[in-house]
Amino acid sequence: MKKELILNGNEKQIFATDDPDKVIVRYKDVTVAFNNVKRARFEGKGALDNQISALLLGYLGGQGVPNHFLERIGENEQLCRKIEIIPIEFIVRNRVAGSLAARLGIEEGFQPDNLIVELRYNDDELDDPFINPDLAVALGLVNYEEVGNMIAEAKKANSLLKGLFHQVGIELVDVKIEFGRATDNGQIILSDEISPDTARLWDERTGERLDKDRFRLDLSDVVASYRNVYERLTTVLGTN
Ligand code: 5GP
Repeated sequence: MKKELILNGNEKQIFATDDPDKVIVRYKDVTVAFNNVKRARFEGKGALDNQISALLLGYLGGQGVPNHFLERIGENEQLCRKIEIIPIEFIVRNRVAGSLAARLGIEEGFQPDNLIVELRYNDDELDDPFINPDLAVALGLVNYEEVGNMIAEAKKANSLLKGLFHQVGIELVDVKIEFGRATDNGQIILSDEISPDTARLWDERTGERLDKDRFRLDLSDVVASYRNVYERLTTVLGTN
């Protein structure tokens, strides 16, 4: 049963339930970018993020990447294991795009031979600064073994998602992965959403962007693009 609001984020709300180790995550239609500087509301986007994230997290769980998702329980809501957030973003990049292209002056779309993993400290006030494993340990967020395992798990999730999206004609350009400690057993598990809000998805044939860059870059058809991603995924994963 849904109980009190624990956290009211920009794009999501977290509610307590009867079970102290489970929460309800509710996806809003609000979207923000550039550290909350840009904000808009798109009717139906929250439901699509919820459906896509449920499909992707369910898929990863079935492929041996334990995560917080338990089941989708409504249009905008999913039941998840309760976690204590570890405030590190692991950004896995298959191709150069977005902030990396701008920061190093590399043309967007460049494909290096190796995989790139960036760590950022998740703190809006500091604008999510870059950190590395030494700093993650120094900040008391994790120990060395944990951060090593998290990097390996982020790479595994990226590899599985890349293969899945390829089956539906979409290239996974990059993806942001976060983790938390499950409150019931302390296990570090992949948490938060995985959706077009947190991954760059390019149509393999046309190169069209099917992700949050449509909002960031003022392109049209944000919701239609998210629906396109959802419908393609259902051809492989079914609905849930
Ligand atoms: P970039 O650093 O190029 O802006 O983002 C790299 C990838 O991580 C993109 O897929 C982007 O959507 C995701 N990402 C990075 N930081 C954030 C963030 O604070 N919020 C969200 N929703 N996604 C992020």
